[in-house]
Amino acid sequence: QKTAYEIPKRDWSSDVCSSDLLSDDVDVAVLARGSSGFSGADLANLVNEAALNAARYNQKVVRMLDFEFAKDKVLMGAERRSMIISENEKRVTAIHEAGHALLAVMLPHAEPIHKVSIIPRGMALGITMQLPADEKHNYSREHLEDQIAILLGGRIAEEITIGSITTGAGNDLERATDLARRMVCEWGMSGAMGPLTFGKKEEQIFLGREIAQHTDYSEDTALRIDQEVKRFVTDNSNKAQAVLGEHKQKLLDLADALLARETLDAEQVRRIAVGLPLEDIAPATGAAAALPPREPKTAKERQPIVPPLPPRPLTQE
Ligand code: ZN
Repeated sequence: QKTAYEIPKRDWSSDVCSSDLLSDDVDVAVLARGSSGFSGADLANLVNEAALNAARYNQKVVRMLDFEFAKDKVLMGAERRSMIISENEKRVTAIHEAGHALLAVMLPHAEPIHKVSIIPRGMALGITMQLPADEKHNYSREHLEDQIAILLGGRIAEEITIGSITTGAGNDLERATDLARRMVCEWGMSGAMGPLTFGKKEEQIFLGREIAQHTDYSEDTALRIDQEVKRFVTDNSNKAQAVLGEHKQKLLDLADALLARETLDAEQVRRIAVGLPLEDIAPATGAAAALPPREPKTAKERQPIVPPLPPRPLTQE
């Protein structure tokens, strides 16, 4: 099969890569923060996908947008734009994700938001991505509590706007409960239980890397652990409910913006959170601004193998 565009042959054997294929707007630091935990092969895959995406649109350089597109694909699976979703389902997804995103912006100890999207990927109908400010290995109790609130925020947003709850939040609840349990049992963060760990972890060599939990506490303690886990979840559920209840209009605005644009970046979410309109966002600067629009020029070029368009830069609207 013939490729539509020719990719210039380069000598990759030299260990210094010339950067004239990279657009000025590529921010490696941002990419690095969003790809922590990637293996070498994942990173190679990411760069490959970005280059392919640039070639797909006949670009002379690889832009940040291409890297973002590639990163999302490697991280969350390819977009499933062909998936059939009812209008109602889409609205529920938008409200659910808006709940996560608004809390991520408003809670003081949360990780900064990166983007929120209602384009289905893999098994997920929507996604809210946060970006660690630095490569963190230690988290404070306040941070973890805010994280529990954010996880519960999707379900709470559905509850206070639509009045009903869908099954879409199942994974969120599991993760929130798991986090609360680890705070109590592994990290000694519960005042009532004290700075102790509960349950010994043992790696069973014969069962591969499966980890077995051993109970090393009494039934009475088990009961108190459950109460503490429940308290962490309920307290942060109440906190999320208070914030989203107070800012219900912003929650609805954010959901509307998501329905209209499918994906919002951090800046756009922040603008809605402080009640600013989205329209007067500054256009892209640097080399990216000088590049021609991404649409293929002729009708013949519009036909080909080109898979669905990646999200176009919203900042250029
Ligand atoms: Zn969710």
